[in-house]
Amino acid sequence: MKILVINCGSSSVKYELFDMDSTLALTSGVLDRIGEHGARLAQRWLDAAGARRERVYEQAVADHFQAFELIWRAMRETGLLADMDELAAIGHRVVHGGETFTQPVLIDDDVLQGIRKVVPLAPLHNPANLAGIEIAMQIAPGVPQVAVFDTAFHCSIPDYAYRYALPERLYADYGVRRYGFHGTSHHYVAVSAAKLLGVPPAAVNLITLHLGNGSSAAAIRQGRCVDTSMGLTPLEGLVMGTRCGDIDPAIPFFLNRQAGMSFADIDDLLNRDSGLKGICGHNDMREVNERAMLGDTAAQRAIAMYCYRIRKYIGAYTAVLGRVDALVFTAGIGENAAFIRAQVCDGLDHLGIELDELKNEARTSGAREISTNHSAVRILVVPTNEEWEIARQARSLL
Ligand code: ADP
Repeated sequence: MKILVINCGSSSVKYELFDMDSTLALTSGVLDRIGEHGARLAQRWLDAAGARRERVYEQAVADHFQAFELIWRAMRETGLLADMDELAAIGHRVVHGGETFTQPVLIDDDVLQGIRKVVPLAPLHNPANLAGIEIAMQIAPGVPQVAVFDTAFHCSIPDYAYRYALPERLYADYGVRRYGFHGTSHHYVAVSAAKLLGVPPAAVNLITLHLGNGSSAAAIRQGRCVDTSMGLTPLEGLVMGTRCGDIDPAIPFFLNRQAGMSFADIDDLLNRDSGLKGICGHNDMREVNERAMLGDTAAQRAIAMYCYRIRKYIGAYTAVLGRVDALVFTAGIGENAAFIRAQVCDGLDHLGIELDELKNEARTSGAREISTNHSAVRILVVPTNEEWEIARQARSLL
């Protein structure tokens, strides 16, 4: 059984084709710079002998339709997919499901309408996700299409945690509440962590830290999410590559009054020019670390602020959960940056969190434990795999 997963953004499309029986990713690719002068598609695949291959296509791609045509062509050229009808399903990542979509769904006209309805909550993401679904439905009309929502895993958060202390009508009229994002990743690593701990997923209490360009934390009680750091939008919570995370909500009004900035400018500032980039001029953690090692005090401060914010959330979620079985690090920074994991865990033994420095530094990939043998809270690194999780959820639905 083959399932194709599509993550369609405004100027890029990522995809991955899985053989669900062997759980192998047969081919994957990223096409970016749609609508710009020269688009680029980099496709990787396993050839018949099991060797890794890569091919790059560079050509103008005017719109998403042309993007999909190029992707289909590239996939056919690998010989791994001769016809769309070979697909058991196409799974689509959809960023926002609002309160309507709390589980993966088979896409029909009502679902498309429902996704359109929540566009105001994700104006940058949902329209691109919709474009991807509509084109895939045209190109592969006989193949079931499944939507998997980034917000869905957070639907179990209780109202006292997802509501803001704002007038009721803002929730009733405009849906102003915490939704949370990265749900597919938090869900995937939670299930993997439970496996690693040898407990059923429905029994496990975790704090999961998805630390990538965008970063978020989730508190998970008995396998279900009970709180998360991102809110109405992905801007709230942890310090991120270019997003500020938690700030005093009065700052935008202050900047509007004192600095004469428009709300559009402030929106841009908080989403694209803040976080690590705002603090030290670089949003890539590898670059920030290199500069910090060379004595750049702004870069050192960026790392200190990044870790301090995570520590505050660990403290808060420990209070929320009571019993924490494990702290789970995932995504680009969480999986690779041992120095961040060390700084986050440093001095948290009073919470039962004790990092084993050697295990933390070991260069191993794959899910692993990095806590000391007597740490009450186990510390895990679990590589995320959102594409596989989307494929798995699509298969379960079928
Ligand atoms: P995205 O949110 O775009 O999917 P990723 O999960 O790929 O992001 O994470 C990107 C972040 O991970 C970047 O800040 C990058 O610098 C960081 N990262 C990747 N590898 C390392 C590493 N070896 N050491 C430190 N940071 C790393």
